[in-house]
Amino acid sequence: MPAGTKTNQVSNPKSQAPLALILFGPPGSGKGTQAKLLVQSLGVPQISTGDMLREHIRQGNAVGTKVEAKMRAGILVKDDVVNRLVEQRLAFADAARGFILDGYPRTRAQAETLCAMLAHRAAQAVVIHLVVDYNVIIARLTGRRQCPVCGTLYNVTSKPPKVPGVCDLDGAALVIRDDDREEVIRERLDAYEKQTRPLIDFYRESGKKLFDVDASHEAPEAVCRTILALIR
Ligand code: ADP
Repeated sequence: MPAGTKTNQVSNPKSQAPLALILFGPPGSGKGTQAKLLVQSLGVPQISTGDMLREHIRQGNAVGTKVEAKMRAGILVKDDVVNRLVEQRLAFADAARGFILDGYPRTRAQAETLCAMLAHRAAQAVVIHLVVDYNVIIARLTGRRQCPVCGTLYNVTSKPPKVPGVCDLDGAALVIRDDDREEVIRERLDAYEKQTRPLIDFYRESGKKLFDVDASHEAPEAVCRTILALIR
């Protein structure tokens, strides 16, 4: 956690409105990494639809079975499935003071559903658009490795483990996420361009606070400091 950071500064003291921090950006822009850093500073939960969907797949339940093929192919899953997951997650007590949305909304229909959910909670939305060069995205996604046990992310060039292919924390053999294969990466970037990028205009036009943050060049901690300065 950055020095001197308090964990309870997320709500606007006057209105006590919960902050809905929406992390927006293409696959590989670092939404998950930033969400985890911001959780430490803000003390509100990360809500990652990708992580929730992967957990359902891991459990082998009805939701998991429904979405597995789409996720493996890098295609977006149906709006009503993710909308329901987010709605249920927002009802948890830990989200009452605010939350960080990572990977949601991704379509116009999701953005409209989210608007209604936020209005219901009188939450204040701030959108952080992580802007990253295309070549950086490709390098990050193709080099990404994950620990199947603790979930820690590595990158073969920018953040290698101490021993190649082995998790620093628990010694497990690192894996490539199914959807980080090259042909699937192309699908995911395509889905982003066609279905998700247009939401930037949706948010700009709806008068919501939206900040572009360069996430290509700086270290994750520096990007996180920039985000914190923008929202405080
Ligand atoms: P990334 O942003 O790097 O693609 P995620 O973990 O956010 O990784 O998403 C992985 C996959 O999960 C997506 O390709 C898609 O199939 C599914 N997914 C996650 N969030 C959503 C969402 N909000 N709407 C539809 N599909 C989603």
